[in-house]
Amino acid sequence: MLTDAIEFSCPWCGEPNDVECEPGDAGQWVIQDCIVCCSPIELRLPLVADDMLIVQREGE
Ligand SMILES: [Zn+2]
Repeated sequence: MLTDAIEFSCPWCGEPNDVECEPGDAGQWVIQDCIVCCSPIELRLPLVADDMLIVQREGE
């Protein structure tokens, strides 16, 4: 598989989650629901391997 899972903490409840980063999604904003509290999380996937994953609450 070419996909990489990136770990992050939910900005709503702080619980660990992960997101699959496919090569075609690099640099894109995606919305994923937290696996624990089901709140929508906005994520900007890193463009390069050492780029930061940006995590924020959707709708703010
Ligand atoms: Zn959560």
